Order: sequence, then C-alpha cells, then structure tokens
Amino acid sequence: MKAFEKNIRKVEPYVPGEQPQHKVIKLNTNENPYPPAPGVERALKEFCTDKLRLYPDPAAEVLVKELADFYQVKPEQVFVGVGSDDVLSMCFLTFFNSDKPIFFPDITYSFYKVWAELYRIPYECQRLDEDFRIVREDYYKENGGVIFPNPNAPTAIYEELEEVEAIIAHNPDVIVIVDEAYIDFAGRSALELLDKYDNLIVVQTFSKARSMAGMRIGYAVGSPELIRYLNDAKYSFNSYTINQISLVCGTEAVRDKEYFEEGIRKIIKTREWAKEELKKLGFIFTDSRANFIFASHPHYDAKVLFEAMKESGIYVRFWGGERIEQYLRITVGTREEMETMFAFLRKYMKISE
Ligand code: PMP
Repeated sequence: MKAFEKNIRKVEPYVPGEQPQHKVIKLNTNENPYPPAPGVERALKEFCTDKLRLYPDPAAEVLVKELADFYQVKPEQVFVGVGSDDVLSMCFLTFFNSDKPIFFPDITYSFYKVWAELYRIPYECQRLDEDFRIVREDYYKENGGVIFPNPNAPTAIYEELEEVEAIIAHNPDVIVIVDEAYIDFAGRSALELLDKYDNLIVVQTFSKARSMAGMRIGYAVGSPELIRYLNDAKYSFNSYTINQISLVCGTEAVRDKEYFEEGIRKIIKTREWAKEELKKLGFIFTDSRANFIFASHPHYDAKVLFEAMKESGIYVRFWGGERIEQYLRITVGTREEMETMFAFLRKYMKISE
C-alpha cells in the first residue's frame, strides 16, 4: 500500500440505474415517459448562446422566484440545486453534524447511506415493518437528524401527512428532511407543515413529474433560516450550480401548471391500470402512489425475470437486497410501453389473453 493511500477518502459509491445507449423500453430509473412542458422546448430554441459566455446568476433568482410563487412561499424559503441529489447532499453536509446517528429506513433510497459514509455521519437504519411501512415510534428515539422519502423508494408507499407530522413533531431538536421526489403522484405534501415546524426541510425534483431528469434541477423548501444555512454551504462548495440553460428551462416548466397536472393525471391513470394488469398475472405489489410499482411474483424468481425482460429489451430495476430480493421496480411508462411489457410477461408466463 502506498503511503498516500491512508489519506484518501474511500467511498462505496451509489450505483445509478443503467442508461442504455440503444433503444429499449426503459422502465428502470423512474423517468417520465412524456416530454417536458412545451415552453421548455421554446426556451431552448430561443436560447441565445452568447449567454454561455457569462456565469449564471449564482442565486438562480428567476427560478427561485417562480418556485416560490408556485408553492406560495417566500423566495428566501427556496434553495435550488443540480437535481435533488445535489440538494440532498448539501442538506446532509449542512444539517447532519451531530455525534448521534441520523435515522432513515432500512429499505429506502440507497444514496442516503452513501452520503452518510462520504461525510462520515453516523447513521442507524430503522426497519420498515412487514408491509414495508415506516414505524413512526422508531423515529422518536434520540438521533442526530431524520430523513425519509415520501412516497418511499423503492417501495412506492405513501405515508399520510399525519404520520409524517408525528415524526417531525417528535424531533424538534434535529432537522427532519422529507424527500418528496415522487409526491406529485401521491397525495398531500409536507410543504403544508412548513409554517408549523422550523425543523422541517422538504426536498423535491424536476426529474419526475416535471419530466426533466436530464436537466438536473432539484429544490429544498424550508424556513428562511435553514435555507440561509444551505446557501452558505453551497457558496462554500460551488456557487454556480444552476447553469444558464437550466435557469430558463426550469422557469418555463414551473410556469405551465396545466401541463404539469395533466402529465401527472396520465401517469396515475396508467399506473392504476397497470396494477390491475399485474394482478391478473398473479403479481403482488404494494399500493403504489409513485410513478413506479414495486412488484413480486410468488412463482417467478425476480432476478431471472429481470434478466429475461432485459434480454428482450425491457429494462426494469432489480437490487437483490435483503428483504427485497424477490422484487422488481417497474417505472410507469406510456400505456403503449406498458402494453409491450405485459405482452412479454404473458408470453413468458405462457398465459393467453
Ligand atoms: N430521492 C429519491 C427518493 C429518488 O428516488 C431520486 C431519484 N433517483 C432522487 C431523490 C434524486 O433525483 P434527482 O437527483 O434526479 O432529482
């Protein structure tokens, strides 16, 4: 071992889902199958490349203001970053500095563990119950902070706002982060609780309901005080996170509320239909409230099925982790994409229509 080795920060990185470069039915990374709002395309076409000479506005003011208007909060309550991964990572760095462990569920977004290790934050996973539900009392013990997604990933389960509030209310001395990457497909957001709790940070993204995973925009909403701390950390790391193109495209996306809501309705409709189809094929699954379904089949091994689907050009996600080794996570695509998947499954299972 070279002497410098001992001073190198070694991490086991997060493994993102595959991004195949050939054409497949891509149901593996919870992207939106529809294009972003038409205003985004217009903004791209009209974008003046001379703007690229200049650094972008470090405060991303137009985007922050548009989001603040949309969510009826003050601009001082909004922090933006390069996808919610960037925002969440800044949140870990800024808010989780206790010697006590932070808490998150044992089955959840696997990036939490990676950030905790990267920043050397002690952590303790709280076991979801047998139905993959959060046990709220587990989060009442002393801790250094709490984070969980709602709906959770990859389980797709949405916890009602009362559950979320109970966890926030029992943790007044630490920051509670609710990661709402999939909230638009689910139900009431913890944003409603912001006026009541100064220890709450809600994180959302443009990658799912706004169909802009490739643009990389995420945001946090919290009290002006917490957002100030987040900005201080950001300006100590990288001032220019939101580039010129993201600024204009992101702003356009937020402006088109109607398109946003219509897109969500379409995905929910396909999701509910897909649940019925999965049921007919004998799959079991949680009551998904996200843009993906977490499903298992009593007679077909998940890994074998995953590989067979991939072989035929249908990509879904499989982890093989403890307690979820028999589960596949299937992103809700277009109705046509889902029909192709069901045709494959029927053929694979030798079931006639
Ligand atoms: N949180 C959760 C729960 C997610 O599943 C994802 C998507 N991988 C993210 C955050 C990050 O999404 P993005 O960085 O694209 O905003």
